[in-house]
Amino acid sequence: MTIPTVTLNDGNSIPQLGYGVFKVPPADTERAVSEALELGYRHIDTAAIYGNEEGVGAAIAASGLARDELFVTTKLWNDRHDGDEPNSAIAESLAKLGLERLDLYLVHWPTPAADNYVHAWQKLIELREAGLTRSIGVSNHLVPHLERIVAETGVVPAVNQIELHPAHQQRDITDWAAAHDVKIESWGPLGQGKYDLFGAEPVAAAASAHGKTPAQTVIRWHLQKGFIVFPKSVRRERLAENLDVFDFELSGAEIAAIDAMEPGDGSGRVSAHPAEVN
Ligand code: NAD
Repeated sequence: MTIPTVTLNDGNSIPQLGYGVFKVPPADTERAVSEALELGYRHIDTAAIYGNEEGVGAAIAASGLARDELFVTTKLWNDRHDGDEPNSAIAESLAKLGLERLDLYLVHWPTPAADNYVHAWQKLIELREAGLTRSIGVSNHLVPHLERIVAETGVVPAVNQIELHPAHQQRDITDWAAAHDVKIESWGPLGQGKYDLFGAEPVAAAASAHGKTPAQTVIRWHLQKGFIVFPKSVRRERLAENLDVFDFELSGAEIAAIDAMEPGDGSGRVSAHPAEVN
């Protein structure tokens, strides 16, 4: 099985499907990430705030995989935007992960009330120049935040990692990203299990037509939309299931039917609004 890669606007490439470890308990992380690596995952998405970077690092060390076979993302937490805090934060993350350099470092939330996300972005630019991460990007940035960081620094993020699933597609952000060659990473790609995504008719019908599960069908929808995706599970059988998505293709009509699932009034959001996270 070959996982396709996406080329970022800085020329680096990222596996389009990975494993996200939000809410994977620290004590279970080494086991879960080791299983994911055994199954063939090569892209891990973590964050300082998840508290499990050490477990990710232990699994990487135990895997014996060459560094350039792996793609590791972590994120700068909200209380570390100011001054030289990002320098300390990345050093701490690298130590916990047991790495000398990240593949991708993200500003986790813009925290607009603190008005320090442009500074945080400038610091990430410097961290990349210093060789501590190959690529840099943002997460949970709305269009005004994106426009401002680009206007004030001249550097376009490689990715914007946002809540994205059939009930919440954020087309204003995805359109902006497409126009500026910013890749979209979908977080909560399965809706975090917070609504009946798998029972929805367009998903269930496509799943049955292809002999795949609803989860595989939704992951396939993300991939065919061009999004980078890293569903979370701690169960080996689901990790395997979520990776087994490269032997079928949704039709244009099936994609369009899932596209049409969005309520259109913003009510499909399952987690926090970026303007309110501070
Ligand atoms: P998700 O949409 O991946 O949902 C995870 C849940 O889906 C699991 O708890 C499990 O119950 C269920 N699930 C997974 N595979 C399944 C399967 N095959 N069949 C049935 N159910 C299945 O939600 P998520 O974990 O929030 O998002 C994925 C990743 O995105 C995270 O692990 C993290 O890396 C990232 N993330 C980033 C942010 C951010 O602010 N940048 C926020 C949330 C998550």
